[in-house]
Amino acid sequence: MSETNELNIETSENTEEKVSRNFIEVLIDKDLEEGVYDTVHTRFPPEPNGYLHIGHAKSILLNYGLAQEYGGKFNMRFDDTNPTKEKIEFVNSQLEDIKWLGADWEDRLFFASDYFPKMYEGAVKLIKKGKAYVSDLSADEIREYRGTLTEPGKKDPGSDRSIEENLALFEDMKNGRFADGEKVLRARIDMASPNMNMRDPVIYRVAHMTHHRTGDTWCIYPMYDFAHPIEDAEEGITHSICTLEFEDHRPLYDWVVKELEYERPPRQIEFAKLYLKNVVTGKRYIKKLVEDGIADGWDDPRLVSISALRRRGYTPESIKMFVELCGVSKANSIADMAMLEYCIREDLKLKRPRMMAVLDPVKLIIDNYPEGESEMLEAANNLENEELGTRQIPFSRELYIEREDFMIDPPKKYFRLFPGNEVRLMNAYFVTCVDYKTDENGNVTEIHCTYDPETKSGSGFTGRKVKGTIHWVDAKSAVPVEVRLFENIVDEEKGVYNEEDGSINVNPESRKIVTAYVEPDLAKAKAFESFQFVRNGFYCVDYKDSKEGAPVFNRIVSLKSSFVLPK
Ligand code: ATP
Ligand code: MG
Repeated sequence: MSETNELNIETSENTEEKVSRNFIEVLIDKDLEEGVYDTVHTRFPPEPNGYLHIGHAKSILLNYGLAQEYGGKFNMRFDDTNPTKEKIEFVNSQLEDIKWLGADWEDRLFFASDYFPKMYEGAVKLIKKGKAYVSDLSADEIREYRGTLTEPGKKDPGSDRSIEENLALFEDMKNGRFADGEKVLRARIDMASPNMNMRDPVIYRVAHMTHHRTGDTWCIYPMYDFAHPIEDAEEGITHSICTLEFEDHRPLYDWVVKELEYERPPRQIEFAKLYLKNVVTGKRYIKKLVEDGIADGWDDPRLVSISALRRRGYTPESIKMFVELCGVSKANSIADMAMLEYCIREDLKLKRPRMMAVLDPVKLIIDNYPEGESEMLEAANNLENEELGTRQIPFSRELYIEREDFMIDPPKKYFRLFPGNEVRLMNAYFVTCVDYKTDENGNVTEIHCTYDPETKSGSGFTGRKVKGTIHWVDAKSAVPVEVRLFENIVDEEKGVYNEEDGSINVNPESRKIVTAYVEPDLAKAKAFESFQFVRNGFYCVDYKDSKEGAPVFNRIVSLKSSFVLPK
């Protein structure tokens, strides 16, 4: 195999040609043409109840990208209307992730909780218009009264209350006169609507909870479907982009902004969520892996939370490329992890130095190399990108090579090292295997070679050719480091979810730890620095477990792939 990944892929020009306007851009173009809006203002509205993942990255880059494309604005807004699961830790981690991805909200950082007074006013307005009433029904009763898809709902006894009575009761709700669940405020829409979301939805509930930002100021909290359109409208959002599960909620969204008489109400547009085959994406499920101790925290490099991808060594550019390749659509589809891996290889292949590291070492001794001597050899950092310059690598009589690069009795077409065969040591000399030693179990313990000083790399030697090139490190100066080889945390044979109990089918061998020998320069690598280990893959220095002079490397991705870019 050569140093680069041998993929049968198209060039980037080809892929760019393919990217045509997506359906959201088409809708926006039309809105601008017709003067429905004269600008584009989008937002990303996560709930701070967990870490963001690759699916959120799609939404972030889509919303931010549209604002950029149309010369509009992009808001970052926390949808923090449900205090039970929300935490400052998540607010901070989400901001860090979004910034890292490159989405810039400038000075437009908002919190839905800042609109609690507006939302309260909005609810009062609805009551005054006769469009909302206080209900005494319990959650179960509300469900029961709502009817079914084939049967209309039943009238809520509370809906007969006068406006004055509703106003007074709602104020009492706000003032803490009622216990959780004792009263709710419902929008008066249509108990017979074929859309269940329109059957007098609950818009406010009593919840005696401390909010991470507003403390105990409120003991009533707005429901998502009421709060979200207000947040968008208050910020002057033009296109409120969300995922398909909210399609059935759009009539309610439109109802809220209409009844609250916003002048230029936002338009909700839904697109399909990003799913990855055999990968745990939902916040809820990632959380479960973390809580069950299967993953070591939200940024365990085997996860696809943004912080995990960052820790593993993915770049914002690779994630952006991936999201663009996935496209934006109304139809659910499942992307392949191999495509994300393709993107990171493509991104790093010219940007990173190609260094030598031996992951499964066996000793190679050059019998005719003078004992006690050593030399420095020059090596290009990246043969495909001269700008990365060169470096000096120590070379001497004893080296390590990969165990799999030597065979006592090789099959045909094995061009690496075996008794009697000559290969090139990358950046160094040709060596011929003259002998080997094994232990009592037949494992090779030492390989003996002779080298030909004439064949030094870069000397212009053309006397003969060899078919195999293998990498190596100098035994005396190489540094042992911890390397973590990751596989999917999900058992791909079984699929993500166990059909019987809904638990996650875990791959027990998703993290293998080895001690590798690396070039001395690699021992100086700093957190988040990444490299290609020639013939092996891309690796990134773990920011949590590395120490000065003792980096721990995470394998981002191997070099091999059968992935072909879809046409
Ligand atoms: P999860 O189910 O993983 O918790 P969520 O939708 O509950 O995700 P939110 O914090 O509510 O998470 O989402 C913020 C935004 O990200 C929403 O607009 C949501 O539609 C979008 N989003 C969430 N998951 C995906 C995904 N897989 N693909 C694309 N967009 C997503
Ligand atoms: Mg959610």
